[in-house]
Amino acid sequence: MSNSTLLTSLQASFIGCKTEYPTVNGQRGPRVYLDSAASTLMMAPAYEVGHEFLVHYASTHSDLHYAARGASHAFEWAHERVLEFADADPENYCSFFAGSGATAGFNRMAASLSRARPERSIVLISEMEHHSNDLPHRYHNAQTIHVPCMGEFERYGGLDMDRLRAIFDEHGGNINYIAVTGASNVTGAITPLAEVAALAHAVGAYLIVDGAQMIAHAPLSMNDADIDVLVFSGHKIYAPGSPGAVIAKKSVLNAIKPAELGGGMVDDVYLEEFMPTATLPDREEAGTPNIVGGIMLGAVLDLLTRAGMDKVREKEIDLIDFAWSGLKAIEGVSVYGPEPSEVPRTGTIAFNIKGFDHGLTAAALNDYHNIQVRNGCFCAHPYVRELLKRELWEMDIDPDAPNAEADVERKRGMARASLGLYTTQADLEALPVGVRDLVERRDEILSLYEPIGSNGYRHTRFDPAPLDLFDPERLLGNYLAQSA
Ligand code: PMP
Repeated sequence: MSNSTLLTSLQASFIGCKTEYPTVNGQRGPRVYLDSAASTLMMAPAYEVGHEFLVHYASTHSDLHYAARGASHAFEWAHERVLEFADADPENYCSFFAGSGATAGFNRMAASLSRARPERSIVLISEMEHHSNDLPHRYHNAQTIHVPCMGEFERYGGLDMDRLRAIFDEHGGNINYIAVTGASNVTGAITPLAEVAALAHAVGAYLIVDGAQMIAHAPLSMNDADIDVLVFSGHKIYAPGSPGAVIAKKSVLNAIKPAELGGGMVDDVYLEEFMPTATLPDREEAGTPNIVGGIMLGAVLDLLTRAGMDKVREKEIDLIDFAWSGLKAIEGVSVYGPEPSEVPRTGTIAFNIKGFDHGLTAAALNDYHNIQVRNGCFCAHPYVRELLKRELWEMDIDPDAPNAEADVERKRGMARASLGLYTTQADLEALPVGVRDLVERRDEILSLYEPIGSNGYRHTRFDPAPLDLFDPERLLGNYLAQSA
């Protein structure tokens, strides 16, 4: 099968792409899933590999019965696929799985690296980071410096390389590492990683890259960019239920002590002492791993490597431009971050509709148009606050009013449409149609919703029964009825 045939076939393979839901007008229709930055849908052939593995299921770390031997081999294969996908030379790099997403990897690396080099007390963190690649570094390190992004208001967004250079010049050898995202989960802004790596390495600092939003969207070469540590979530690259993944230089791993202790990471244990193994990745994978998830992730990465991430990126760029210009053309819609022509982006577009709180936009797009987008600050509060600065200033809220806090919360945020491999031009045609419809029916829509919680909205007359949505008890009920 040629690369492009494979890519087309993969694009059509996703589970749940066209699941039908009810809408306010009493009809049912296929959803438009534009929430891939939160979590992607499952790639069916990779799921099949995981399902088939269950037929042979056994835990890893043994060779002596057939199933365990197969499991150990397949789990090792998954580690190799991770390295291959990120173009990380196995001579220099090692991959390991941790937790259920990227968060575990950041906590591990922050704890270990801060302990390994206490004499370098400063850590740099970009201002656009997700809390996962910010708070662990703040917690474990004596001093953190947030590196600003460039631009202001509409143009604010990409990492400010001039400021970064100045910070490296000023603090040089006191910097332990810099933590920066490959791509923002709010604006999709892509960071020039090779340049950041060169600046870091010039003063002996490490570079930790958050690959959560980049991994499924753009080709990445750890060898070429000389990245020390990359962390990403399997559920953001078409393998929900898979673990987080870390790729680190062996030289980095050999310089740190393992942050998690337990079975599988020691050579021997006495009452008085224990000997962590020198074998990687075992030393970094204490406990029984998420074997099925790791294998499914390995399968996704294998298929995407064959299809070519450069092709994935090429296809997405056209869709990004299409979605961006479609939203920008609507009067009263703000689209955040620099133009795609100024700072390269992945397929993540945050926007607001004038007169609509972000929660209302997300609820109404869902209820009326079956379009699923996320809303809020996306766990990147400082970045979102900066992007919204002008609008928040202009917000006419009396800070002394009894509900001022709740009002600000309701307005401080955005709706976010994010793309996956399964996103089609038709999906992105539906988005501006839906947004335009809300703009045109603003007063009617506002009158039909009531606020719930700190930033949600509920339609006053449309409340689908849980049975119309996914309900595990219903499925169990079916099973129990059939087996009765
Ligand atoms: N970094 C970024 C850029 C993200 O978008 C996310 C998830 N929203 C994370 C880190 C955290 O990933 P996880 O929730 O899978 O641990």
